[in-house]
Amino acid sequence: NIRVRFAPSPTGYLHVGGLRTALYNYLFARKNNGKFILRIEDTDRNRYVEGAVENLINSLKWCGLDYDEGPDAGGDFGPYLQSQRLDIYKKYAEELISKGHAYYCFCTPERLEELRKEQMAKKLPQAKYDKHCLRLSKDEIEKKLSENIPHVVRLNVEPGKKIIFEDVIRGTVEFDSDNIDDQVLIKSDGFPTYHMANVVDDYLMQISHVIRGEEWLSSTPKHVLLYNFLGWNLPVFAHLPLLLNPDRSKLSKRQGDVAVEDYRAKGYLKEALINFVALLGWNAGDDKEFYYIDELIEKFSLERVNKSGAVFDIEKLNWLNAEHLRAKPESELLLMLKDEMNKSKYANANYTDEYLLSVIRAMKERVSFAYEFITKSPYFFEAPSSYEEKAVEKNWKSETPGYMTKLRDKFSALENPSKEDYEKALKETASELGIGAGKLIHPLRLAVSGMSAGPGIYDILFIIGKEETIKRINRALE
Ligand code: GLU
Repeated sequence: NIRVRFAPSPTGYLHVGGLRTALYNYLFARKNNGKFILRIEDTDRNRYVEGAVENLINSLKWCGLDYDEGPDAGGDFGPYLQSQRLDIYKKYAEELISKGHAYYCFCTPERLEELRKEQMAKKLPQAKYDKHCLRLSKDEIEKKLSENIPHVVRLNVEPGKKIIFEDVIRGTVEFDSDNIDDQVLIKSDGFPTYHMANVVDDYLMQISHVIRGEEWLSSTPKHVLLYNFLGWNLPVFAHLPLLLNPDRSKLSKRQGDVAVEDYRAKGYLKEALINFVALLGWNAGDDKEFYYIDELIEKFSLERVNKSGAVFDIEKLNWLNAEHLRAKPESELLLMLKDEMNKSKYANANYTDEYLLSVIRAMKERVSFAYEFITKSPYFFEAPSSYEEKAVEKNWKSETPGYMTKLRDKFSALENPSKEDYEKALKETASELGIGAGKLIHPLRLAVSGMSAGPGIYDILFIIGKEETIKRINRALE
């Protein structure tokens, strides 16, 4: 039975790296008819953020990553919030203590600090607890416990051992137990640490595959010890490659947005974001880059996940956004444009669906975001209030007003002109004037749109209509 989980700590938002982890778990579960579980790892009370869980769930739902079990989805292995499972962790901590694999530690923060300084002075590679409390007698321990002396529970790591495990992505991984600290399992406030809660829950929730970011790889030997000490079988491990900035440093907030909700607010499509994130460390083995989630499910495998870091290239995301936008049916684009219109200064203008659809058809190949139907071609919604300076310099010559007057008069005579009628009228005017069509087209474009580039000029004229076209030419002639 395939069972996988996404186990975020609620920090306030869903990081794109978290989305990648969630997505790979989701794809793996759906591909293999398994279950995808959401577990909230909220045992660090110092990091509690109001509304963080709701936020996370909202982001996952927006992306369409529905889970089979979770805090708001129910399931047979709940509760799915670790803060509601404290007794469970305590029970297993006691089991470990009774077997000698964990022990109470009463050392004060002062003593630990002292120890750390000593070890620093000796230039040890890392500070490690010195197992001082492991030497306490049973009576001493009982006495301290009954006096309510603050304490933690530590993992008893045996030195001089190799800890070896298999990772689907990284192959055989080996750690030296000499480099592993006697990890705190239960903190003095009675809450478990990540390691304790994570392993106990993965076991109890019957997680078959642990798929998570590479930053957790160094925790895995501690987890392996816990599984062994508790007599449990290991899950399959798969550690996903790091996400990198284009300069190959670790993906950081400094270099752009990292929260899914930020991308959503900026107008990215969930289809594009999912497609993009899927390719951060995985490919199907061909050159295909455009995917819908159903195809991703069909193609996904852990074996094809890369070991090396994946560069987060925002240009590629923008490209995918444009591709997914274009692939949408017109009816959906219409709804999106209406939505954008309502958010814009044209909220009160009453354009017909037909009008908006013609804007969509004209601009579809030129936009990457739905709001660009408005921002890239404002001239479909209002006359230009200024004209691109460079283009004026280049295309609006001393003879241009005379040409434009003639063209305007030609247009005026047209009745219910089609695109072709405009084109014919313009070409006629040009030949009558004995000039190339370009001498009319460029200034005309400037007059009606204020810009030097855009969709076909006859499309623009046809969409805004004859009356508006003439008005705008007159305006430019003033
Ligand atoms: N709570 C950890 C996190 O925030 C979970 C890591 C894991 O999947 O084991 O990512």
